[in-house]
Amino acid sequence: MDSRHTSPAAVHLETQVAVVGAGAIGCSIAYHLARRGVQVTVLDAASPGAGTSSATLALVWVQRKEPVEYMELNLLGAKLHAELAQTYDEDVELYQPGGLSTYIDEPTFLRQLGAMERLNAASPHHKTRELTPREAQQLETELSLDIVGALFSPHDGDINPMRLVFNLARNARKFGAKFLDHCTVSRVLHSESGVNGVETNLGLVKASSVVIAAGAGTPRLVEPLGINLPMVFERGQILVTEPTRRILVYPTGISRQTQRGNILLGTTYEANCAEKQTTAEAGSKIAAASVRRYPRLKDVHIVRNFAGIRPLPKDGLPYLGAVQRLPGLYVATSHSGITLAPVHGKVISELIVDGKTEVPLASYQPERHTHSEQDVF
Ligand SMILES: Cc1cc2nc3c(=O)[nH]c(=O)nc-3n(C[C@H](O)[C@H](O)[C@H](O)COP(=O)(O)OP(=O)(O)OC[C@H]3O[C@@H](n4cnc5c(N)ncnc54)[C@H](O)[C@@H]3O)c2cc1C
Repeated sequence: MDSRHTSPAAVHLETQVAVVGAGAIGCSIAYHLARRGVQVTVLDAASPGAGTSSATLALVWVQRKEPVEYMELNLLGAKLHAELAQTYDEDVELYQPGGLSTYIDEPTFLRQLGAMERLNAASPHHKTRELTPREAQQLETELSLDIVGALFSPHDGDINPMRLVFNLARNARKFGAKFLDHCTVSRVLHSESGVNGVETNLGLVKASSVVIAAGAGTPRLVEPLGINLPMVFERGQILVTEPTRRILVYPTGISRQTQRGNILLGTTYEANCAEKQTTAEAGSKIAAASVRRYPRLKDVHIVRNFAGIRPLPKDGLPYLGAVQRLPGLYVATSHSGITLAPVHGKVISELIVDGKTEVPLASYQPERHTHSEQDVF
């Protein structure tokens, strides 16, 4: 809708860039922009980290992510995390020992082995290898031999997602970024020549660039602009144990042990479910599969469980880049948003400041789906 037709409201703020959403992605974008001297304001309907970024497993994960360019994007994320961690003023508990995926059923293992083989053939950078149960146990001594196989990648790891978000926000503030909490954006304002701000419950925020990094809230904000971002809301449930001595040295695709000793055990993939409740049934299944892999877990107490909603683009690939039809508008939303947060920050800051990025974005264009594709997936 054209901003000339809005009802008059007080202009509370004028900024160069308004970032909508203060999750890992929005905070990373704010940090990257602020470091480059851009005046940036982050608007969140709640507060930093209130969305999926605090209800996640938080692996920094590369192995088996197809297609090959998406794997390369995640590998870039893993490398950038390591570089950026050196620039924060607090430890974000980035831990990158490599990732050990273990399988207890043959069909799943064969499927994942196939993905590994395709990626290894397509790129010298995907250095994942197959391990027998015994080889896997030599790496991870608490692992049971009652598995059908394992895959190891040297690139994988994990991070403390709350520390990540709070560090990015705090360090962005140090460079002058502003954060407005409890500020719900209702629409993007624009004229024929491009965006000129957003309308919020607190008033209008004028901006020459607007970045939509609102996670699961992103499609609804860009839909009125004619941009279709098909997305599945997929619930994932996770159990958390009491702190215990080291049982998992290596993160797996579904579990990890934190630096304090708590073990996060996952997870479910419940498509078309945007309710954050946990279920006893999922908890029992996760616990049983976890004890089968790591028998010592049977003596460890579960202290809590939680569920998060994955903002999962229906083709699995990020929505990342400039919106061609509306100058000044950018979209940055994906699954694997913890792994990819530094990539989103790098790409969006380079597009805004330099007008270009070397990161290949062709597959991630926010305008790649037409409206009629809504039902195709
Ligand atoms: C169970 C589970 C396990 C996962 N495991 C991993 C993993 O191991 N590795 C990995 O990389 N990823 C993982 N993910 C995915 C990852 O957590 C997400 O991709 C990531 O957190 C998304 O970050 P974000 O900043 O885009 O969104 P969010 O963290 O959801 O932030 C979006 C923010 O936007 C705000 N917002 C929304 N609408 C509006 C509006 N209209 N106005 C103002 N503010 C608004 C919200 O309040 C929220 O704070 C997992 C997810 C789940 C659920």
